[in-house]
Amino acid sequence: MTPCPMQDLPGCLGPGPAPCLGTVRQGHALCRTCWALVPQALQGVVYRAAGALRRGRRAVDHYRWVLCAAKVAVELARRPAASLLCLSCPQPWPWAVVKAGCRALPSCLPPLAPPGRVLWLALYAPGDVDAESLNWMRDEGLMPRMEPVHAVVGVAQLRGVVEGGAQHQDPWVRGAPWVWQLDGVVALPEPVPHQARDALWLPEPDLLDQIRRQWKAGRDLPPRLVTETMKVTFPWEDQ
Ligand SMILES: [Zn+2]
Repeated sequence: MTPCPMQDLPGCLGPGPAPCLGTVRQGHALCRTCWALVPQALQGVVYRAAGALRRGRRAVDHYRWVLCAAKVAVELARRPAASLLCLSCPQPWPWAVVKAGCRALPSCLPPLAPPGRVLWLALYAPGDVDAESLNWMRDEGLMPRMEPVHAVVGVAQLRGVVEGGAQHQDPWVRGAPWVWQLDGVVALPEPVPHQARDALWLPEPDLLDQIRRQWKAGRDLPPRLVTETMKVTFPWEDQ
């Protein structure tokens, strides 16, 4: 038995579940109480990732990613007042959202919080590149840029997280299992430098404060014209 990793959380803000005092059983990542705070669809994703991990080592990055998301889901449940979530989007996705009008992020993650919870996303631009998406955007005639790096570049409202797959028509999504729908995107006038340790996290007060100040400054600027965007490719052959 080891202490649950969620015992390290900063103090609960406002009403919410009591702080975690649990221990983790062997072969598990969270205590029972924390696991029960993870939404069911996300639990399923974690189970499948753990199964893939047992079958072969190549799935380790995916497992780490979904486990990180599960911990953030617990943290959101334990901190009802938190509303801003930092999401690391490999290049060139930050560009796609902030400069090219992308409002639907393809993802393997279902919702992290029950419906009705208002969440905002701070888009973090890391140093790593999603080469497959980069090539695809270039093939579509776009000219993605990969800068800046290691900075929060924009903030968007998370309008919803819906199932993707073959039925989803947004051209940015391309059959991803889940779609994170964005709204009210604000490009930060000055990207906020940061060295992220995780791909998904709730910001510390200092980072939150800097992002909030830049968001307010960016929100008051006149809207910028989006000059590059994905052409909608309707699947005529299915008709
Ligand atoms: Zn716990």
